Amino acid sequence: MKTSLLTLAALLLLGITRTLGHGGVELGPNGGRIVEFSKNETVHGEVTLTNGQFHVSILDKDMKPVAVTEQSLVVTGGDRARPEKPKVEVQGGRFVFSALKGDDYLLVLQFRENPASKAITARIEFDAAICSACKNPEWLCKCSSEKEGKKSDTHDHKGAEKHDHEKKK
Ligand SMILES: [Zn+2]
Repeated sequence: MKTSLLTLAALLLLGITRTLGHGGVELGPNGGRIVEFSKNETVHGEVTLTNGQFHVSILDKDMKPVAVTEQSLVVTGGDRARPEKPKVEVQGGRFVFSALKGDDYLLVLQFRENPASKAITARIEFDAAICSACKNPEWLCKCSSEKEGKKSDTHDHKGAEKHDHEKKK
């Protein structure tokens, strides 16, 4: 596992040590969101947003870019009740599609390595709100990995004394 010194420093600064390389948001070489496009970590996607366009680059197991050839991507997203399927094009060896309306929606990416392979589904909760801690949009925020999708398996800290504001002395 590679961890840059900068990332390590940031993690230490935040006092987060136990989430290293486990769950949460992973950022790629271009600062994009890393999604898993394989069952065995051999293919990844890096999702970036530029001028209203999402770009999805394919990365190999060493996070080196792979040009899109026979791979395909189907995107579904937006309002859960009325999901949209933005048109995905290939430009400069990567997938490109237009951002959907709104600042907060789910993107479902269905990736196929080639026409014969099974689709791998990756999900991104897109959230354009800026994180006050890291100044990244929430969908690219590493600090938020603790907030979502994780069971509170931290040490059993019983908050018995929480409602002590009526304490008389
Ligand atoms: Zn953050």
